[in-house]
Amino acid sequence: MSDIEVPESHPRYQSLLTRHRIEDGVEKGITSPQGLIAQGRGEAFDYLLGERTLPSVDRAERVAAAHLLRARHPVLSVNGNVAALVPDELITLAEATGADLEVNLFNRTEERIHAIVDHLREHGACEVKGTTADERIPGLDHERAKVDADGIYDADVVLVPLEDGDRAQALAEMGKTELVIDLNPLSRSPQTAAVPIIDNVIRALPNITTHARDLADASSDQLDDVIAGFDPETVLTETERAIRTGGD
Ligand code: ATP
Repeated sequence: MSDIEVPESHPRYQSLLTRHRIEDGVEKGITSPQGLIAQGRGEAFDYLLGERTLPSVDRAERVAAAHLLRARHPVLSVNGNVAALVPDELITLAEATGADLEVNLFNRTEERIHAIVDHLREHGACEVKGTTADERIPGLDHERAKVDADGIYDADVVLVPLEDGDRAQALAEMGKTELVIDLNPLSRSPQTAAVPIIDNVIRALPNITTHARDLADASSDQLDDVIAGFDPETVLTETERAIRTGGD
């Protein structure tokens, strides 16, 4: 047994544990009630993908790690679902790649921003951005546009898990290299990403960290070689095919 009353041998253990973390996030004021709906959509796609990381997605995760290591200023964007599901994994990836963490919410409230910052600090994060909100992403309405000038606004590479389509597009239009984690290959966010990662954040973040550690001593040229030739369309097409046919 773990932090919920479900035996680890239960066939839906991981999925039930994940639901429990999201519920807990809502209770603590970290996750918005809409986060429950996003979780449900994600679960459905993960079920269809066979709850596994496909080989093409593993390659995308290696490319994402190379981008984060190669970046001038990488930032990991944190929303309420991600903070509830993978706080430790976010901090570990930030440490492994030298990235900043910034809370960036679709349904932004100051209470929730602070609840997430406190939650990440309790999990060991030193600095968490997102409270200054002194810049705006062009092309979005006021609340959804807010970012930190020395965070996402300045970043050249941004990892955005579970981002909504408009914001993903607006960030891409600012010229940022976007790495999007989303289980739905048909969603607009992964479709606008330089690197679409069609995987559960629960698997994706530790796997990107593993690749980042593996590439830690790589030269800039070697990182560029990992990035070169990556085709986002291939990941979208292969994951959609896997969902439709159940194959790899
Ligand atoms: P878009 O505007 O890009 O079409 P959307 O309307 O599909 O976005 P939401 O309804 O907010 O976006 O859904 C959230 C997205 O996050 C869904 O595509 C869902 O598959 C994905 N998602 C939910 N949970 C996870 C998770 N644990 N890991 C990865 N992706 C997830």
